[in-house]
Amino acid sequence: MMGADAINLLYIVSAMLFVFGLKMLSKAATARKGNLLSAVGMLLAIITALLSDNVIHWPWILVGLAAGTVIGAAAARLVAMTAMPEMVALFNGFGGVASLLVGWSEFQRMVSAGELVSTSWGSLLIIGVTVLIGGVTFTGSLVAWGKLSGTLGSKPVLYGGQRVVNGIILLIVLGALALMAFQLNLIPGLGTYSFFLILGAVSLILGILVVIPIGGGDMPVVISLLNSYSGMAACAAGFVISNNVLIVSGALVGSSGIILTNIMCKAMNRSLSNVLFSGFGAGTPAKKGAGFTGEAKPISAEDAFPILEAASNVLVVPGYGMAVAQAQHAVRELAGLLEENGAEVNFGIHPVAGRMPGHMNVLLAEANVPYEQLREMDDVNPSLDTVDVALVIGANDVVNPAARMDEGSPLYGMPVIEVDRARTVIVFKRSLNPGFAGVDNPLFFGDNTRMLFGDAKASMQALVSEFKG
Ligand code: NDP
Repeated sequence: MMGADAINLLYIVSAMLFVFGLKMLSKAATARKGNLLSAVGMLLAIITALLSDNVIHWPWILVGLAAGTVIGAAAARLVAMTAMPEMVALFNGFGGVASLLVGWSEFQRMVSAGELVSTSWGSLLIIGVTVLIGGVTFTGSLVAWGKLSGTLGSKPVLYGGQRVVNGIILLIVLGALALMAFQLNLIPGLGTYSFFLILGAVSLILGILVVIPIGGGDMPVVISLLNSYSGMAACAAGFVISNNVLIVSGALVGSSGIILTNIMCKAMNRSLSNVLFSGFGAGTPAKKGAGFTGEAKPISAEDAFPILEAASNVLVVPGYGMAVAQAQHAVRELAGLLEENGAEVNFGIHPVAGRMPGHMNVLLAEANVPYEQLREMDDVNPSLDTVDVALVIGANDVVNPAARMDEGSPLYGMPVIEVDRARTVIVFKRSLNPGFAGVDNPLFFGDNTRMLFGDAKASMQALVSEFKG
């Protein structure tokens, strides 16, 4: 067994690896190394934790390690890029249930050792909080996974008096937490252990109830929030078993999750309470914003070719439709041909383009688009007047000018990529249908806009053929 100083030193090294790893994740070019660095930090933390305890039952540890490694490695290899949000949802859920089990085992240990009566209310409270957040995270994440994977319907489940029911459940949870922590036997026949079990069971129910009213489209925000909860649960579990590295890593996950949630909400111009409580996508008719005049002007790949051939500055703005069509490789090929033709090509990435944070970055990286060409919205907007052609590939809400110009639009105030300021805009989509927000898009009717209707991949390939021909 190691001495306390050596253990704390190794824990500090692990925590530093986590922090530097996180920092490196903020840039696409260093993200892989950052991931690896954090993983090494976690390995070090696990080894240190194992060596710091002399009552380790090694066979169980090895069984757990082998099972986790096999399942994790297989899942990481087999899961499709588009299924990544579901996988993250499951990871969060398992993090939550792990913390719940840590809290439970510590409580059980106290009961078995007869220590419960002499335990302070503070210690019991932190165990209860671990179980509460861990339980909510576990079942909430499973529902999020179900909604994203289509196993459960993605529509918000809404019913009359829903908030009252959720409020009552929350009161039961808080009541059980208080009665358990202060060991108040106020209800005949129910002792501290019963309140602990009620707390655990009702926390699991609460996790389901708070996620079902949220639509599938908003699940990435919920997953980011649940990620933060799983961090908080781990942090609380760290206090329960007095493990410094668990406290630090839990706090890092908790805070980074909440920052990401905030970034996503801001980029959608919606508050977190609107995401959590509005039942967005519950089948309410689409709000159209301002009425439109004029007609959309279709264009064929053949006619789009000379416009692109003459362009010297092209901005590609991808959106959810590029992911649906899996058009990223064809987009990359076209970008290469445009560059060979002497044009400067950049990709304008909106923070919530697609259905998960970084969705477009991941797809374009998969297609080997160089990181330097991926530019953020705030970076491309100032120079949009100098862009000859903006190619909008399956993006809709994130390029909707109504967000800037129409105060009556539900999107008003959402920051968007201002492609309508480019000399020519070519929009690749199948119809004039609205996007995720259900709001019509005046961009499609602009004088400088041409609509290249069809599946984005097929249209891209047709353009590539034009160039090659
Ligand atoms: P949108 O959902 O606004 O629009 C996508 C467009 O893609 C549709 O209008 C659709 O038009 C088109 N499309 C679908 N399939 C194809 C295809 N095969 N070929 C060509 N086009 C296709 O996407 P954006 O990326 O612009 O916006 C993302 C939206 O998602 C925002 O409203 C955002 O707030 C929301 N959101 C994003 C999250 C994130 O983390 N990224 C999280 C939660 C919500 P058509 O049917 O006519 O082809």
